[in-house]
Amino acid sequence: MSYLKLGIIGQPLTHSLSPLLHAQLMHLLNLEGEYRKYELPSEAVAASLREFFQQGLRGLNVTIPHKVTVMSQMDSLSLEAQLAGAVNTIIFEPDGTLRGHNTDIAGFIRSLPSAVVDRLPESDLLILGAGGSARAVMTGLIEAETASITFAVRDPMKAISLTSDGEVIKQTYGSKTQIRLISLDSLPSLETFQGLVNTTPVGMWPNEAQSPLSPIQLETLPAGAFVYDLIYRPLETQLMQAARSLSLDAFNGLDMLLYQGVCAFECWQDQEVPQSLIEPLRAQLHQALKQVAP
Ligand code: NAP
Repeated sequence: MSYLKLGIIGQPLTHSLSPLLHAQLMHLLNLEGEYRKYELPSEAVAASLREFFQQGLRGLNVTIPHKVTVMSQMDSLSLEAQLAGAVNTIIFEPDGTLRGHNTDIAGFIRSLPSAVVDRLPESDLLILGAGGSARAVMTGLIEAETASITFAVRDPMKAISLTSDGEVIKQTYGSKTQIRLISLDSLPSLETFQGLVNTTPVGMWPNEAQSPLSPIQLETLPAGAFVYDLIYRPLETQLMQAARSLSLDAFNGLDMLLYQGVCAFECWQDQEVPQSLIEPLRAQLHQALKQVAP
């Protein structure tokens, strides 16, 4: 079996959990290989990609700040990468071409409990924030035929392109998802929403004391609603704590992180990761986060 060469490009990469995740995957699958961190400034990316191919790399993950700029270096883009407007996974094809893909979309959807996914066609969801991850979340929710998505943002003018891109994504999937945009300042009572997804970094380490919504606002969510925070550092944010104290289901971003990595690995290896490996991988990530999180 050939030695598998993988890695991640970004800057900085100090806190990335991807090397741990992929090393564990290779170990569990009995594969010989390596997953290296390549901290690169933007101007070095194009030349480095050519070198990586010559060195026999099979694939790369891409993180901040290269997810959008690297798109122009790709020979082809998957539908997901086109719709998300970002590449987080590069596949070095045997013919020397580079294929850009995005696994944040599938990573988010695979991370949702099946009971939540089953209800999406009847669910009105609130998304806080309108950045890169909000776009991936929106794409997944449109593909899953969610009834409606309302984005609540600081500056609605800045987020208009996201909603117009949402219309294109709806056409692509033939979905009828309603998309709305409102200002965070004018957020109404949340009683009409069956779920809430936080895609802002508010509440993330080292600002764990912050929350994008107050407990009083959260109290207006109906019984049975879920709260999903994309943050995984800390493992339980203030937002999640407030939701749990109201007996609402609350999820962190650990499973999205896990599944976007699993999806990337499946692309590079062209084979499914067995379900039996998911729990050991989750436990490993959880352990690593507990060690660094306060
Ligand atoms: P991004 O592209 O920078 O977008 C952040 C969004 O949050 C923007 O809409 C921004 O609004 C908004 N925002 C920032 N600070 C805010 C504040 N104080 N109040 C209200 N809104 C605020 O970032 P991203 O890549 O989407 O990442 C966002 C979060 O998701 C991060 O915590 C990241 O770690 C997490 N994430 C997790 C995963 C996972 O696998 N679990 C994957 C991707 C991202 P403005 O445009 O007005 O600044």
